[in-house]
Amino acid sequence: MWNCPYCGFERGHVFQDSQLHGILCLNPVCGRFDDSEAGIGTLDDWDTSDF
Ligand SMILES: [Zn+2]
Repeated sequence: MWNCPYCGFERGHVFQDSQLHGILCLNPVCGRFDDSEAGIGTLDDWDTSDF
């Protein structure tokens, strides 16, 4: 089961195209994109980079 790494919400929408592959959080107050499933790496060194 997927959990949003930002808010912990359990519902996400799988999104995939030629460049992006991940899960979009369906929490209306979050709505962030989790691409950790694409093998980007750890989320720890991801926090400082604004998308
Ligand atoms: Zn979320």
